[in-house]
Amino acid sequence: MSFNLATMLRESRVANPAKPLCALGDLSFDYAQVDEISGRVASALLGLGLVPGDRVAVQLPNLPQFLFSYFAVLKAGLVMVPLNPLLKAPEVAHHLGDSGAKLLITFETFAAEAVKGAGDVPAYVVNLPGSDARPEGTRHFDELYFAEDTGEIAATSADDVAVLLYTSGTTGVPKGAELTHFQLYMNCTVAGELFGFRDDDIGLAVLPLFHVFGLSSVLNTAVRFGGTLVLVPRFEVDDVIDAIERHRATIYTGVPTMYFALLRADRAGRDLSSLRVGVSGGAAMPEEVVREFEEAFPGVVILEGYGLSETASTATFNVSAEQRRIGSAGRPVWGVRVKIVDEAGAELPPGPEHVGEVLIQGHNVMKGYHGRPEATAAALAGGWFRTGDLGHLDEDGYLFIVDRVKDLIIRGGYNVYPREVEEVLYAHPDVAEAAVVGRPDERLGEEVVACVTLRPGAAAGDDRAAELIAHCRERLANYKCPREVRFLDALPLSPTGKILKRELRAG
Ligand code: AMP
Repeated sequence: MSFNLATMLRESRVANPAKPLCALGDLSFDYAQVDEISGRVASALLGLGLVPGDRVAVQLPNLPQFLFSYFAVLKAGLVMVPLNPLLKAPEVAHHLGDSGAKLLITFETFAAEAVKGAGDVPAYVVNLPGSDARPEGTRHFDELYFAEDTGEIAATSADDVAVLLYTSGTTGVPKGAELTHFQLYMNCTVAGELFGFRDDDIGLAVLPLFHVFGLSSVLNTAVRFGGTLVLVPRFEVDDVIDAIERHRATIYTGVPTMYFALLRADRAGRDLSSLRVGVSGGAAMPEEVVREFEEAFPGVVILEGYGLSETASTATFNVSAEQRRIGSAGRPVWGVRVKIVDEAGAELPPGPEHVGEVLIQGHNVMKGYHGRPEATAAALAGGWFRTGDLGHLDEDGYLFIVDRVKDLIIRGGYNVYPREVEEVLYAHPDVAEAAVVGRPDERLGEEVVACVTLRPGAAAGDDRAAELIAHCRERLANYKCPREVRFLDALPLSPTGKILKRELRAG
């Protein structure tokens, strides 16, 4: 039986063709337009000789052309390979080579770099408004609009790969997690139902759509439930505020750093009262930030979930204000199971004293890593996906993520979970953001280092460092307390907004 994820676009179009699907500034495209344009692009791609199953790399910021390309690729029965626009040439070469992509769709600003890495792979360039510049040898994306929309959606099967999502997983080079049409459809359906996405919701698409969280939890969810998306191509807090105010956005989906940024921004005189739900994931949301945010934005409830590229986005979720447990990542979503195992693979009972690796099983677990049978076998050994995250369950099945296995600090033989120390630092009134990492230490193996940014008006310095250490000492066992505090103007962030601990560790 045929099953194609793009059918959800058609269904929402039939239900409400003139409903805006995406808006960017003054520009807006309704469901009928996105369905038709993506149909034309799908015909053009097939006209170029691509055949079902071929991979197409799409390296675009959050622009309407991302949606046109994505649904075109799906409708044509091809496989979408979303890539970060900021990749350097050797990285582009790796991703294209590893995925075997036959075509690259890229953006003018990044095209020169991308084309350097693309080699023989033909590239189509999306232009900035009013420009038609493109590197030699490339073509204009607009050319793909000239084919005819046949209205056809390829008869892929539920188990066919729809998207290859590149992720480093727990170790090693970026690998393509194979997610199927069914998995992606199921995940946005389950997650959207759980937090009550409505067709009158207006979601903010500021998380990059090339990442699983943006692709599945923002884009797919909105299309599946017939909502509208406000596209914000780059995280600039003022752009976010403008977009929420102008489009009356109701749902803010982001990683914790996007919540801090909104909290700290100057919002005087701005009307952001349309927001009703904040969906958080991608990294641990500090409890203090939830409380502060909900105080600053009355009527908004923050619901935290957890997942990975390999789990088609959501694996666990806090479904409502009544059922959530702040500080936890929620309970497994429908059809998904979570267990905690020790180093020998034995299942651990619930309780904070039983921290182990988080394993996941269910409809959302990727088929495998593209072209990497060994990495796949290791990640899926025993029929469970090994996340590389440390956590514990409580008696009611709520999952508490403690840290990444690789972020764990072992000081003098004791495990220090950075998240626990970070929560304490966040509770200090002068701390804006905190990240705790280990640094090598001859005697103890590792020593605990706190990297913090301060709130405006708070001064850094030795006294402040001593005060923060004393603050930790009052609240944490001595071995967990930082011995060094580094003050930074900003924490290094990944394109998705996650704090880059490896850069902090490097110095
Ligand atoms: P990615 O594949 O880029 O989506 O990254 C997945 C990783 O993000 C997970 O393995 C976790 O380490 C982290 N992560 C996602 N959600 C949460 C959460 N709610 N709390 C803590 N870490 C999270």
